[in-house]
Amino acid sequence: MSTTATAPAHQTVLCTECGGNVRVPSDVMVGEILACPDCGAELEVQTVTPTLTVELAPEVQEDWGE
Ligand SMILES: [Zn+2]
Repeated sequence: MSTTATAPAHQTVLCTECGGNVRVPSDVMVGEILACPDCGAELEVQTVTPTLTVELAPEVQEDWGE
C-alpha cells in the first residue's frame, strides 16, 4: 500500500488579537470557535474556503439574572 495522498498538515491562522499562530483542525467548520493559545482570544471562523478567515468572537454575556 503506497498511497501518495497528500495529507495536508494542520493549518494555522493568525490571531487577530496578538498575531500568534492558532492551530486549526483540518475539519474546521464555519462558526467554530478557536482559542488562541497565546492570548486566550476566542476566534470565530468566518470562512473556510478559499481561505480561512477568523474574527474575534463576541464575548459571551453571561446572564446572571434569575
Ligand atoms: Zn492571540
